Amino acid sequence: MFSFTTIKDYHQFLADTPAGCSLAVRHYLAEISRHKDLNAFLEVFEDESLARAKTLDEKRQAGKPLGSLHGVVVAIKDIIAYKGHRMTAASRILEGYTSIFSATAIDRLLAEDAIIIGRNNCDEFAMGSTNENSAFGKVLNPIDKERVPGGSSGGSAVAVAAGLCMVSLGSDTGGSVRQPADFCGVVGLKPTYGRVSRYGLIAYGSSFDQIGVFAHSLADASLILQAIGGPDPLDGTTARAAQPDYRQAFTRQFQKLRIGYFKDAFEHPSLDREIKSRLNNMVTSLSESGHEVKPIDFEYIDYIVPAYYILTTAEASSNLSRYDGTRYGIRVQDRDLGLRDFYKKNRSMGFGKEVKRRILLGTFVLSAGYYDAYFTKAQQVRKLLIERTDLMFKQLDLIILPVSPSTAFRIGEKTEDPISMYLADIYTVYANLTGIPAVSLPLFSHSNGMPFGIQAMTSRFKELPLFQFSHQLMQQYKSYENPTL
Ligand code: GLN
Repeated sequence: MFSFTTIKDYHQFLADTPAGCSLAVRHYLAEISRHKDLNAFLEVFEDESLARAKTLDEKRQAGKPLGSLHGVVVAIKDIIAYKGHRMTAASRILEGYTSIFSATAIDRLLAEDAIIIGRNNCDEFAMGSTNENSAFGKVLNPIDKERVPGGSSGGSAVAVAAGLCMVSLGSDTGGSVRQPADFCGVVGLKPTYGRVSRYGLIAYGSSFDQIGVFAHSLADASLILQAIGGPDPLDGTTARAAQPDYRQAFTRQFQKLRIGYFKDAFEHPSLDREIKSRLNNMVTSLSESGHEVKPIDFEYIDYIVPAYYILTTAEASSNLSRYDGTRYGIRVQDRDLGLRDFYKKNRSMGFGKEVKRRILLGTFVLSAGYYDAYFTKAQQVRKLLIERTDLMFKQLDLIILPVSPSTAFRIGEKTEDPISMYLADIYTVYANLTGIPAVSLPLFSHSNGMPFGIQAMTSRFKELPLFQFSHQLMQQYKSYENPTL
């Protein structure tokens, strides 16, 4: 019987188990098929992952040097290109499309000996917070199947939470890794904008998108980031600086931190009462345990969501204009159509309701006459947020925020009210607007039985201290909550 705790433990197990990778892959394939009802996978690379496991087992037995992710079983959101494999972005418009190259993140995982087991379901083009916008059906939350897993990387969160793989990749434009991680009770990391190459990641809002990681532990998430992050000549927005060795983060001693929290966020009327009281208690306990914890007046809190939705829909309306049925994907079979109608039909047929809504909204905010009132204003808000954030981090090591105003929604609860769905992104979009790294840490359990946690953030490219601080927070807070741990 195979069981997984951490990559480190798995590697110890592999050292004494000649066919260990094959055993792991067989275990996950069986679990995936046992949990088919969750709909977390759009495709499972069964034969291929078994063959790769066998090759890796042989490599190990031959005493060859092993990659840092040797035999690690990874699932990927179906929005990240993997050469020779189908990719749909959970949209009908990409029906039949096969990637002709691999994303840098995928190449790097493979170079470190990882095994990619399949493609995860998600919201169409990563637009959504519940995974209900997929053209291939909703994904169920494994903790309570009446609830959503969150989105847009819902399938990737469920794949880790339900034990269908060891770690997974998602993408986070406004919270799509952190929020589903929170709804499913796993760690969800969004690196700094520019830390992980976006080459091969289907663009939604290019100045916001980052590939992120779902894992059972911070240490595992950091190992994945170590492998996939760093400069890439194929993406001009990646930072040139090499990454530090993240392993250091887990060996350092307790350090007193300067932690800030947004008062308005912790007291926001949309925040669930129980989450509010647990998080406020946590703030008190953190200062009791020796940290310097400061409330921060952050008067921009209610501008964050509108700025995010103006800017991302504007970018999306431009990014998604390439899907017209001419070169790939769905295509209407009517030879008599003019070019304009041909595009119109393909796009009407191929895109789902939410994607259409966002393309319309984005086109509107970019249109002559409205551009300055919406797009320029939102850019100004973004600039203000960045300046303010840089200033705050001069006096702080860390900012903590809730992840979501509530635990996982019930299926269908928000589908008829897109505005209320958008407003629930209040705590996550801030990190994408400012480009800072953020991680959601699964710490608590709500009286309704669902998990929830807290989000930790540091300034740009400070993932090392982010891991270090978060590790401390997890340890300390867990021991505060459960003194026996
Ligand atoms: N819920 C947000 C949205 O719908 C986040 C999406 C994302 O991060 N990809 O835009």
